[in-house]
Amino acid sequence: MANSNALTHNKLVKFASLGRETYQNVKFQGKDMPFSPTKVPKFISPEIKQACLKVCGSEEVGFVEIESNGKYKSNKCALNAMTETEAVGGRVVFGWAVFEWDKVMFDFIGHAVVELNGRYYCVTPSKMGDKKVLFVPDSSIAFDFENPDSRLPSKEVAISKRPEVKKLLEVRERIREIKIKYPVSSSNMQVSIEDAQAIAELERLQTGLLDKVNYFLHPVKEKCPCGSGKQFRKCCKPHMKRAFG
Ligand SMILES: [Zn+2]
Repeated sequence: MANSNALTHNKLVKFASLGRETYQNVKFQGKDMPFSPTKVPKFISPEIKQACLKVCGSEEVGFVEIESNGKYKSNKCALNAMTETEAVGGRVVFGWAVFEWDKVMFDFIGHAVVELNGRYYCVTPSKMGDKKVLFVPDSSIAFDFENPDSRLPSKEVAISKRPEVKKLLEVRERIREIKIKYPVSSSNMQVSIEDAQAIAELERLQTGLLDKVNYFLHPVKEKCPCGSGKQFRKCCKPHMKRAFG
């Protein structure tokens, strides 16, 4: 058969895209979590400034309003900002959008906004319905406009010193290293069988670590990550005690 070689070396898989979106599909107790644990921070804490210093050597972090007029796609911030500047002037500013998983980690996602007359604004709509983004400029971030599959980087910084948070970040970094080889896509694509197996194994590890992180760090009086609407302490936490307690 002509394509048997391809069949033994490649597999059609669907990768969730990188960055914050990956938290929309994370598992808790083996099921999709109904919400993303990372959020736009409500205010700029000293810990956020410290994390910004660590990631890009700057603590010039501030909120930028999202002014989306319906003509831009949510996962194409660099192209959106470029198109906007071509229409209205100003310049594209690269940096990081900062999200926070309370007590667990900061999620830094490469992002592009527009600067016009000294004011920053974001034209890229948020999938989560956010009205503003916490943004820190970083001139070292580059985007290859010639390459439609070009990705912006992302980085995670632990807040908690717990070992399972450290392990979770390591696993996610390894997943990113593999996924970065492939184009941004939500449809099926051909990847090597080794990569598909490695991703499956790492995602299995990630699910176990996410359960552990939730077990130790999700506030007991807040709603359970399973989406039942009940307090964590009256829902899944007692059942997880045998595994982690
Ligand atoms: Zn529950």
